[in-house]
Amino acid sequence: MTAANILSATSENIVTAARLVNEGKLVAFPTETVYGLGADATNDEAVASVFSAKARPTFNPLIIHFKDMDAAARAVTFNERAERLAGAIWPGSLTLVLPRRPECEISLLAAAGLDSLAVRVPGDDVALTLLREAGCPLTAPSANRSGDVSPTTAAHVAESLGDAVEVILDGGPSRVGIESAIVDLTDETTVVLRPGAVAMKNIEALAGPVASACAAPCAGPPASGRKASFAARHYTTGLPLRLNVAEAQLGEAFLAFGPDAREGDAAHMLNLSPAGDFREAAANLFSMLHELDSPEYYSIAVMPIPEDGLGRAINDRLRRVAGHS
Ligand code: AMP
Ligand code: MG
Repeated sequence: MTAANILSATSENIVTAARLVNEGKLVAFPTETVYGLGADATNDEAVASVFSAKARPTFNPLIIHFKDMDAAARAVTFNERAERLAGAIWPGSLTLVLPRRPECEISLLAAAGLDSLAVRVPGDDVALTLLREAGCPLTAPSANRSGDVSPTTAAHVAESLGDAVEVILDGGPSRVGIESAIVDLTDETTVVLRPGAVAMKNIEALAGPVASACAAPCAGPPASGRKASFAARHYTTGLPLRLNVAEAQLGEAFLAFGPDAREGDAAHMLNLSPAGDFREAAANLFSMLHELDSPEYYSIAVMPIPEDGLGRAINDRLRRVAGHS
């Protein structure tokens, strides 16, 4: 792969990167944990590009990065434990999972359709300057292709992502080098979803007793990029889904894809992408599922979507929603 566009993280280059983010482009940037793949988290198409650049076979919910706690509090509802943790540790390597506000502007795709959101204020000056300049929250999953090790230098990012990213801001090696700890505060019980750069005892001192969502081997600091065991939680619809359906039946809602879609007997049809573009389809997936998931219909029929590129991740999500995996 060709070396991507590495720029040293000067004020001028951060402004350039922020402008690219505002245009819906991808920018890799340093955080204190690892280098993140940044996109405007309120822009569905930009978020779809993040999944496509990482070539992940599935959409997992992303951590959303904010410039400060007030900005995060406009997207999610803080409880007392969250205020104590964020007040003491932010900016820093702790991610909080909290209920999404109804008026939250973050892309539904970024949260994989969930009604909660993982939020963090990173402890790195370049990251914070970029967030302030961009004026929007950013995604920042590790800036590597799926399967590669999380990058802790700009060169790692270039090796793994190459031209898939517009610009890589080089802020030197990551200070911490392992991922943030993730704590779920959506229930009465505080649950550690991923151990990480903040010690469990510090979290307990601030938030009281915590439960771990991980099996025993998860107790120590995680291997870079190791998956925690939260995958069981995912977005579901109230209505049943019928997958790989060419034409909907009477009274069904129809989630179509591509130029050959025919409304037929469908009560209502939405097309993920009339042009058959996977990125557009990914960007529309969760908002269209939300819209069709209405008691006016008795089920949602879904047209076949090719198992190719982002199509694989779309199908993986649809199968989970349908309860097939
Ligand atoms: P990252 O790739 O660093 O953005 O981290 C993403 C990780 O955060 C996941 O793979 C998650 O499942 C976890 N995560 C993000 N959002 C949520 C959420 N709403 N609920 C539970 N876990 C979440
Ligand atoms: Mg990773």
